[in-house]
Amino acid sequence: MVQADQVHKYFGRLEVLRGIDLTVPAGQVCVLLGPSGSGKSTFLRCINHLEKVTSGRIWVGGELIGYRQRGDKLYELHDKQIAEQRRDIGMVFQRFNLFPHMTALQNVMEAPQRVKGESKEEVRERAKALMNRVGLADKQDSYPAQLSGGQQQRVAIARALAMRPKLMLFDEPTSALDPELVGEVLDVMQGLAGEGMTMIVVTHEIGFAREVGNQVVFMDAGVVVESGRPRDVLENPQHERTRAFLAKVL
Ligand code: ATP
Ligand code: MG
Repeated sequence: MVQADQVHKYFGRLEVLRGIDLTVPAGQVCVLLGPSGSGKSTFLRCINHLEKVTSGRIWVGGELIGYRQRGDKLYELHDKQIAEQRRDIGMVFQRFNLFPHMTALQNVMEAPQRVKGESKEEVRERAKALMNRVGLADKQDSYPAQLSGGQQQRVAIARALAMRPKLMLFDEPTSALDPELVGEVLDVMQGLAGEGMTMIVVTHEIGFAREVGNQVVFMDAGVVVESGRPRDVLENPQHERTRAFLAKVL
């Protein structure tokens, strides 16, 4: 489902991603770990072309992201084509980023409503089903300010799912939450994984990585230091940098 091939990213002269290779098969959960500044968010943002790779390629569902290839040359896609690719990729951030002036249900309906082809009723029914799925059937008319952080983050997940993505990207979705609210968000994510969603999750929740991840990737300073089955990487890391990092977060 996701394939990254030698992804490099510079910000000015700073090389933030230094040749990332990654493969995530359909239906699998890849957990990205790594210290602050190692390039995790930048890499996620490259997957939906919020950042342009400096070199390298990323495919999602067999489609080259951001570019069209002709012979050896790559041409950047038009904004409209990029927007179409992004529709297949849901993203959930650390901060919930809900529209404050819309109810929870309106937030979930907003993106699919802007895309033509579905009636408002269909969109509303699907949004209600999604609110139900994230355990918030009774909160659909609440405004974000009336919801807890965990509830807001679950609305953000429902909103991302409303476009029926093939892939979900999560960037530290629980790190801004009070500890007692982390579990309810992780439970929703685990349910999603159980239904076969392909996911890439940046998180320091090692329990989630172990129980839900199919693959753990440890990044440091813009490279993949090691990756493999969660049990292997978490319990028997091969590299000193991985060991040092795990000693801090475990
Ligand atoms: P954290 O765990 O703190 O979220 P991260 O692994 O997600 O860290 P990134 O946010 O990807 O790290 O940042 C990687 C490096 O790129 C950092 O040195 C950061 O300062 C730099 N960086 C990120 N975005 C930009 C930008 N837009 N312009 C310049 N430098 C940037
Ligand atoms: Mg980050």
